[in-house]
Amino acid sequence: MIIVLEPDLDSPDATVAAVEKVAERYPGVSTKPYAFTGASHSFTEVHLVGSTATVPTTPFEDLGGVLRVVRVSAKYRVIGRHSPHEVATGFEYEGVRFDDQTLNVMAGLCAVDTPEHVGQMMAALAKLGIQTTRMGAYKPRTSPYDFQGLGAECLPWVFELAGEHGIRVIAMEVTDARHVDEITTALDAAGSPTGVMLQVGTRNAQNFELLKAIGQQGRFPVLFKRGMGITLEESLNACEYVASEGNPNIVFCLRGVKSHLGDPHRNLVDFAHVPVVLRQTRLAVCVDPSHSVGRPYVSPDGLPDVFHVTGQGIIAGATVVLVDFHPNPEAALCDGPQALTMDRLEPFVTYCQRVRSCYEDVVANGASR
Ligand code: PEP
Ligand code: MN
Repeated sequence: MIIVLEPDLDSPDATVAAVEKVAERYPGVSTKPYAFTGASHSFTEVHLVGSTATVPTTPFEDLGGVLRVVRVSAKYRVIGRHSPHEVATGFEYEGVRFDDQTLNVMAGLCAVDTPEHVGQMMAALAKLGIQTTRMGAYKPRTSPYDFQGLGAECLPWVFELAGEHGIRVIAMEVTDARHVDEITTALDAAGSPTGVMLQVGTRNAQNFELLKAIGQQGRFPVLFKRGMGITLEESLNACEYVASEGNPNIVFCLRGVKSHLGDPHRNLVDFAHVPVVLRQTRLAVCVDPSHSVGRPYVSPDGLPDVFHVTGQGIIAGATVVLVDFHPNPEAALCDGPQALTMDRLEPFVTYCQRVRSCYEDVVANGASR
């Protein structure tokens, strides 16, 4: 059962305490409050966990400061969209909004390699007024003999360059809770010139101890990538692990699923699931066209497949795009073949914006206009 408090209460803590007091009447029921910050409103929910089936809603509805009480049968208690009218709140981080309305392109290197490449990438983004990027320092690779990422040693100069170029948010994969500590230490030492969105890669989608650890910290939001060989439901449950531990600031990323039926793409593109995730959860949805397509192919119309699938994701309601670029893909130490070259950056961003406008037009005015 979820007790939703009125938005923008002066002292939500008093109402939370009142809800908790009423909940004490019912044995086997515990409470957990969650605070959400939307674009124009903030609100708090108190989740009642345990044997709530026979708990009446009226004692809670009668409390001052309570907006409504929702009985939840759905399994995604925190990330779930419990009614079609519920607004997806999203969150703001480092001055950048992530929600189901705001388009953010996180273009950057799959793996950090040299300060020159990182600097070139960030300078190109800054020129276009983009404040979000991707930079992998810890790379989980299929072979132990492949480049594993520069790790903590590159963090100081990556963060410093980000600050110089006005980059506010870097999507950066972590494969162990230790990496979160290393990122925290390096950011603090650098004077926090930028922010980090912790990326959970597809290979760690069910690493429950990692999920719990990043859920227990509130400093960094999370970019969760769908598990490549598990069901969508299993991936959403994995996100619920993060959220139920206390961190609801999650973006859900589709990145293709493993199947030879996707050939000649690296993965079978699963962006048809964008509206499914939007319908079932309150999370903003990201698409990663690079790791799903994984190839530099260009179709006869002149657009790379990476553009085409990005368009498919955005036209279906995705608002975040995680995409690989590289100043010199041949020299990239990881995933060079799927990286777009820098001359494509401006066309790519414009393309994303145009498809988003088209989506907004269709939603506002109907598809048949
Ligand atoms: C990545 O984004 O660099 C990555 C490794 O992605 P995935 O976890 O989707 O394979
Ligand atoms: Mn990669």
